[in-house]
Parts: sequence; structure tokens; C-alpha cells
Amino acid sequence: MKTLLPTSTAGSLPKPDWLAEPEKLWSEWKLEGDALAAGKQDALRLSLQNQQQAGIDIVSDGEQTRQHFVTTFIEHLNGVDFETRKTVKIRDRYDASVPTVVGPVSRQKSVFVEDAKYLRQQTKQPIKWALPGPMTMVDTLYDAHYQSREKLAWEFAKILNEEAKELEAAGVDIIQFDEPAFNVFFDEVNAWGIACLERAIEGLKCETAVHICYGYGIKANTDWKKTLGSEWRQYEEAFPKLQQSNIDIISLECHNSHVPMDLLELIRGKKVMVGAIDVASDKIETPEEVANTLRKALKFVDADKLYPCTNCGMAPLAQDIAQGKLEALSAGAEIIRKELLGE
Ligand SMILES: [Zn+2]
Repeated sequence: MKTLLPTSTAGSLPKPDWLAEPEKLWSEWKLEGDALAAGKQDALRLSLQNQQQAGIDIVSDGEQTRQHFVTTFIEHLNGVDFETRKTVKIRDRYDASVPTVVGPVSRQKSVFVEDAKYLRQQTKQPIKWALPGPMTMVDTLYDAHYQSREKLAWEFAKILNEEAKELEAAGVDIIQFDEPAFNVFFDEVNAWGIACLERAIEGLKCETAVHICYGYGIKANTDWKKTLGSEWRQYEEAFPKLQQSNIDIISLECHNSHVPMDLLELIRGKKVMVGAIDVASDKIETPEEVANTLRKALKFVDADKLYPCTNCGMAPLAQDIAQGKLEALSAGAEIIRKELLGE
């Protein structure tokens, strides 16, 4: 990236109400068949245009092409039965009815590559594509076949690597793996989580990112955050190994969070997508509030490695609020660019 402080979003953006019920996480599609395929493309173009109007530098599909950041990918795999559902605790936090792994998992064909090609056709700007990370995928399933979270994660890592290589060939500039589970299962992260992530990026020449957050602004997550005390030190657990890993960019929740900024020192040398927009609040940040968070991060992240971003996805927010937040992100980044360039 030649742009100083290139802005991007962590993931999802609101869907139009003709595609899926707005202001709701993981809402069902309102269309079917060919109409759904065309509707997703229309929504992708709209979301792209919204990002461009707000001045976002690294753009995405706004996750208009998927219902859920993990299960939409898993739906395309062999070995997972969506009819046989079990209730599991996701990230040790909330119950969810999830599909069951009933046999060896494999990918029949690419999942998002056609969507990524479509996005690539629409813009010359750098594009980022999100995939679920292996550990977070494992945590969103009931495994009746491998009976080992680690074994299943390795299988997913191989599948993700196949998909990532095709996304790279389709012209994706940054492939991001969403790993909120990295903030919960610390022993597993260090035992095999980061190794599986490195397997997923093996041989890629495009840039790679891992997004680790405290989740969407849903009640289970906000309740959990209340139990974390005044200092959130979860990132401290995974950072030393991540710093040593081949991942290029680490995407983090920083704004309005209780993450001590000095933890970023542990990943010095990595590019950091600094979350400077709170996705759990309808209050639109002022550009100065965004700038303040970026300024704090700059003490621990070199300016050429700082990527202003949102804390997490914005799918559950109203469109006008999400748009206001994107504009605030751009304006806040611009304040800091001017400061850095001494203008
Ligand atoms: Zn997130």
C-alpha cells in the first residue's frame, strides 16, 4: 500500500432490506435462486459504492455474499451435515444450534471465488476478502467424526489454503482470516491455532491478515465483556507467537475497548489494522475520537504499518449509522495523515 494509513473495514456491512432483514445478525435471505444471485451482486456493488463514497481505501464485498461469516463457508463443504444439529457453546459464551461433522471434510469447489472475481471487476482499489479461521470454524460445529478439535482444524486449514490460493488468483490483495476464537482458547491458540493459520496461508504471495476481536455487539458478547475487568489482556496470550508467524497483518479491536494499547508492542513489526470504530454502539464517532485512538496506537505501531479499521463487522447496524461511522473513520485517518506529514 502506498497510501499512508489506508483505511478498511473489519468485515460485514449492513445489507439492503430487499436482500435480508436489516439490523439483524445472520438474517435469512429474502430472495431465492437466480434472483438471490443477482441480488447479492447488486448489494455488493451498493456496498462497494458506500465504501468508496466514504473514502475507504481497501474495499470489500461488505460480506453481502454470505449469511454468516463461518457457516456460509462450511455449507459448501463435504462431511458436514446441516440437518443433524447439536447445541454447543460458542467460544464458551453462548449456546447455538450448529451442524455436525459426520465424515472427512473436503471442498467440492471454490466457495467465494466467483464473488471475489465480481468484486475485482468493479474496482481497481485494493480488495480484501474475509474467510473464517480454522479454529473459529471448529468452534462453530459439533464434531462427531474426528473427535479432535486440532485434527479438524488441520483439515479446515488445508481447505482454506485451497480457497485462499484461488482468491489470490482472482486478484484479491489481502486475504483475512477471522479468528475471534483466538481471544478465548489461549492454550489451543499456542498449541495449534497459529500453526493451523500458517497452514491456511502456506504458499500465498498476497497479503494475509488475521482478525481477532471481542465479537459483534450482541448481548452475549457485551455481557462477556463486562466480566473481563478494567484491563483486557487477552491479546497478550496470542501476540508473541503471532509476532513470530508469517501472517502480515493483525486486525484488532481497540476503540472504546479496555485493551491496553501497550500490548501492541508485542507485535511490533507487523502491520496492524487498528479498530477505531465501535461496532457495538449506535453513536457515530467524531473524527477527533477516531484520531485519538490512532494516535495512541501510533506509539506502538510504526506509521507505515498502521491501517485504520473498524473494531468488527457492522452488519447489525442501521445503514445510515454504518455509513456515518465509515466517514468518521476516513476523516479521523485524514487528521493523523496531516499530522504525520506536518501539514
Ligand atoms: Zn470481529
